[in-house]
Amino acid sequence: MTQKPMVSIVAPVHNEEGNLFRLYERLSKVMDESGETWELVMINDGSRDNSLAEMMQLHHQDPQRVRIINFARNFGHQTAVTAGMDFALGQAVVLIDADLQDPPELIPQLVEKWREGYHVVYAVRAKREGESAFKVWTAKLFYRLTNKITNIDIPLDTGDFRLMDRRVVNAVNQMREHNRFIRGMTSWVGFQQTGVEYVRARREIGETKYTLRKMMRLALDGITGFSYFPLQVAIYFSFALAVLAVLALPVIVVLRLATTEAFLEGQATTLSVVLILSAFQFLFFFIMGQYIARIYDEVRGRPLYVVADTYGIPFSAGRVPPRVIPPIVSAEDVPDAE
Ligand code: UDP
Ligand code: MG
Repeated sequence: MTQKPMVSIVAPVHNEEGNLFRLYERLSKVMDESGETWELVMINDGSRDNSLAEMMQLHHQDPQRVRIINFARNFGHQTAVTAGMDFALGQAVVLIDADLQDPPELIPQLVEKWREGYHVVYAVRAKREGESAFKVWTAKLFYRLTNKITNIDIPLDTGDFRLMDRRVVNAVNQMREHNRFIRGMTSWVGFQQTGVEYVRARREIGETKYTLRKMMRLALDGITGFSYFPLQVAIYFSFALAVLAVLALPVIVVLRLATTEAFLEGQATTLSVVLILSAFQFLFFFIMGQYIARIYDEVRGRPLYVVADTYGIPFSAGRVPPRVIPPIVSAEDVPDAE
């Protein structure tokens, strides 16, 4: 029987070959020094490089502590983290990037705060190394914007690197929404939250998987998941245009009747008005579409992810939450699966 670890470390992995041994090395060093029992849950999120082989090698080196969930395809970072939280056994769960941008050496400090009684301890990026000015600037803008228009407080300059108490994990695991914004969800549940500062390192191997497109998606998930504000903006436009109409229409009528030469002749005016108004109308179609697509995701009720196989995950523990398709066969049950 495997004993439940105190601290689970969840690392989503998408094409991170070359980073994983280093990750394990640094993690096991600090965790062993800290004296806590721990496990490392890695999610292979559809990697097309050697990541899975490297993870399996680590699992065979340390079968009690290194556990693997192998997704059937790439489901995205937030979903991979979700699976890790579903399967983690610890009393505290730490989310960390597998590319070593989040220093494992900070974990003992997170654990210390947790031991003091905090339920969520997030790592605050005091400084970011090796990231483009554009990324830092857009991230800043996004955090400030979301905090303005959502009704939850997402701490500024935090990513997903954080520790969560079992109670928080259980609460977040109950939120089975499809378009997930984990840092918003951990704020939403409440509890005692605090932060610890750190310097975000540069990525050493490989490159970021967060393209501009993916960042925009995440931003939209964060906003639509926690705010109705974008839907309500239309009412201000409606008011503004109504006021304009009330003021302008009498003037137009009077001028039209009073002047002899053709007033506002030609199509230029009409064209300009149509163009400006359609731009705003389509913008609001887009905004509504964002919400409708997410409603559609929810009504279909598909599972959040599909697991191909797992290594070292005790399924009998009954931790598989509703709507997760369990693996047809655990690789451990197959002889010669290695
Ligand atoms: N990741 C993932 N699935 C994806 C994209 C990324 O599991 O589809 C993982 C990736 O391997 C890394 C973490 O999520 O461990 C953060 O990704 P990345 O470093 O590319 O993001 P950034 O640090 O640039 O924001
Ligand atoms: Mg990174």
